[in-house]
Amino acid sequence: MAEKSHFVSPAGRLFIVSAPSGAGKTTLCRMLMERLPALRYSISTTTRSPREGEVDGVDYFFTDVETFKAGIQANQWAEWAQVHGNYYGTSAVFIDAERAAGRDVLLDIDVQGTVQLCAKYPDAITIFIMPPSSEVLRQRLEQRGADSPDIIDKRMVNARREMAQCGTYRHTVINDCLETAAETLVSIVRGYRES
Ligand code: 5GP
Repeated sequence: MAEKSHFVSPAGRLFIVSAPSGAGKTTLCRMLMERLPALRYSISTTTRSPREGEVDGVDYFFTDVETFKAGIQANQWAEWAQVHGNYYGTSAVFIDAERAAGRDVLLDIDVQGTVQLCAKYPDAITIFIMPPSSEVLRQRLEQRGADSPDIIDKRMVNARREMAQCGTYRHTVINDCLETAAETLVSIVRGYRES
């Protein structure tokens, strides 16, 4: 009798991208998704208010603190953290389903969340986006015009703390020239997908 053959699909990879705010991470993640459309983007849930142009279910799932905390009790989050006074979390069901289906997932999360996910998924591929310097980062935050000076100060304190941890990431991409940084990011991800 012929032996039954079992096809075991390899688990999808987790690509985690972190950066201080203003380093260009959102734009770079968008460019990465456009160039490698088979990647699945993990849409986080957050308690912060939507910014202009942000769409619920596309950029984030927007929720309230009570619902978010109920999710903590129900183990709904693969990781969660408080960033700039708001809660952010990654859906455990989404990550597990995508991995089980062999699909690669892109996550845009902070350093605290990365530590939690790497403990759960030690094979996660971590990429840190660095601004060319702290001065350039401050200039970018000021030019963006989205935050008041005291919020920018807060973001800079957080940014310095995050940048000090870039050595714990497997890859670092310096976002000096956007196109070069996008190409570097694509080639890092492609390198794992083709190996
Ligand atoms: P923003 O509010 O500017 O979109 O994001 C603020 C920070 O929260 C960014 O560093 C972003 O990467 C991080 N973030 C977004 N989603 C998540 C998440 O699900 N978990 C964690 N830990 N951080 C997140």
